[in-house]
Amino acid sequence: MCFGYRRRVLKVNLSSRTYSIDVLSDELIKGYIGGLGLAAKLFYDLVPPGVDPYSQENVVILSTGPVQGTLVPGSGRGIFASKSPLTNRFFISNFGGYLSRELKRAGYDAVVIAGRADRPVYIAVDDGRIEIRDASHLWGRTTYEAHKIITEELGDPKFQVASVGPAAENLVRFSAIVHPTPPACHAAGRGGIASVMASKKLKAIAVRGSREVEVHDGAAVHEFFKEIASKARKHPFLPTYGTTAVLGNVNRIGGLGTRNWQSEVFEGADKIDGPAIIPKYKVADMSCASCPMGCVKVTRVTDGKWAGTTVKGPEYETLYALGSMTGVDDFGAIARAARLCDDYGLDTISTGVVIAFAMEAYERGILTKEETEGLELKFGNGDAVVEMVERIAFRKGWLGNVLAEGVMRASKVIGCGSQHFAMHFKGLELAGHSPRAVKAWTLGYSVGFRGGSHHDARPHDIEYGNPVEVRAFTIDGKPELIRDTTLRVMIEESLITCRFFGGYYGIRTPSEVHAKILKMVTGIDFTVQELIRIAERIRNLIRVIEVRDGFSVEDDLNAPPPRVLYEPIPEGTSKGAYTAPKEFKHMVRKFYELMGWDFNTGIPRKEKLEELGLGHLVEDLRKLGRVK
Ligand code: SF4
Repeated sequence: MCFGYRRRVLKVNLSSRTYSIDVLSDELIKGYIGGLGLAAKLFYDLVPPGVDPYSQENVVILSTGPVQGTLVPGSGRGIFASKSPLTNRFFISNFGGYLSRELKRAGYDAVVIAGRADRPVYIAVDDGRIEIRDASHLWGRTTYEAHKIITEELGDPKFQVASVGPAAENLVRFSAIVHPTPPACHAAGRGGIASVMASKKLKAIAVRGSREVEVHDGAAVHEFFKEIASKARKHPFLPTYGTTAVLGNVNRIGGLGTRNWQSEVFEGADKIDGPAIIPKYKVADMSCASCPMGCVKVTRVTDGKWAGTTVKGPEYETLYALGSMTGVDDFGAIARAARLCDDYGLDTISTGVVIAFAMEAYERGILTKEETEGLELKFGNGDAVVEMVERIAFRKGWLGNVLAEGVMRASKVIGCGSQHFAMHFKGLELAGHSPRAVKAWTLGYSVGFRGGSHHDARPHDIEYGNPVEVRAFTIDGKPELIRDTTLRVMIEESLITCRFFGGYYGIRTPSEVHAKILKMVTGIDFTVQELIRIAERIRNLIRVIEVRDGFSVEDDLNAPPPRVLYEPIPEGTSKGAYTAPKEFKHMVRKFYELMGWDFNTGIPRKEKLEELGLGHLVEDLRKLGRVK
């Protein structure tokens, strides 16, 4: 017996309104662990190359790993996966809360949702009872409203709900799946998987489970929890301020995206940094399941126009995107915009970045007041940010409709040179970690399978502690760093442990602690070397998915926005930093070499795939004409 898992994958077909259950095989467990690895393997097997993200052939996968439902600290995370309508690539979005624990308690490791319903529905999973229920009355409702109505209908607030909002129903390409846990919520925000759900007429999934997840060595897991909890509670800022305190730190190193990355120093940072907002506005502390860190803060605005607004966080990434990026230092406006994003189901990062892009276009005279329908879309105008969130969610007006497509597509429509400052990698709006102040990030975002996500590699976990000369002004060791942190992320996202526990579990490569967690929970012995091999297998499988969909080395080489390659940071601690095209190309070449990928084609070498037990994929690529 293998502990930790349920060994069951629930497959729901919305077209036929039927479901079936597949066994999770030993081969899948030992080869891919779970979470990201499991989702990538299911996606490869189920979704043909080249499908449109909104077609019936695309699937939405809700995936867990072996540790969900156990006491392992930071295990209250789950993954939604699909083909992203924003990037047109395989994509995952990691979220916190209680849904993934509940799914394991209900008896499933993953849910695969295929097809399309003929009218709005939601899926209710109650242990072994699966229902596809009418959701016509929920269409148009906010995520919090849907959560309330569904838990009332099902008669138990213990049902954990993940819902899409009006933004997804309007097929906004960066809409978010929201998991309300009032008074706050968690979100699988990135990549627009919510709009894939909505394209299937799926409003929500609700889960309740009653059976504990058995582990191999419960006493060891209990001891491990105590050991990590004593360290986590002493974390220098997360238990007190959550991620809000990251903002001041990133600003001090001169890497905080400001006014659409025209600067990386925000003069209003002191007003929206953790120490300024948490003592004044915090009303509750929350955490995900099995988390002794408790980094989730809930704030309520007490003054000004937006008094009364209650919101999760806002997390660092939200303060960056809706705050420094738009030049807004009014906490009330940021909180209001963030709360609307949660209600309507929008990714706060992409929303803020796309509004900041429009603000720069407006200030440069590329967008006119006629096109903004009278809105003074200037940096620092908090009311305009709030108004634009509304317009984007409902695709109101010409500009709201254009921006709802994401910054890459919007810049093509708006033109006039605006592509120069469209801040995205591979179609995904740039997260709040600088690719100039942390040069390794230019490479990390470019070779990551998601693009502008701060989770494909996490070099800043190491580089923020290094002097500016090392993190911003040399390429030495950066390809090796990105290779290592990419492999770490593959394991972290497949176990699914919270990234904020990376400092205790391993921040550079798969580690002895990851192996120890797997042994305690599942009973399976993995060496670190075996975990590295699994991490490589997962990344190479995803690379083959990318190749199968037509992507090549050119897509990686063309990923950075011109501002990153040609404009040095104008001021602050990292003044003068940028990534010259020549050094960028050199880093990509070296990274490919380390990964065993052919630099001329971007395709993993045959020997590499064979070494990882993926030799059979070569034949798949041959049939598609991608290899000879
Ligand atoms: S540290 Fe924060 S995000 Fe991570 S599991 Fe704990 S509460 Fe959730």
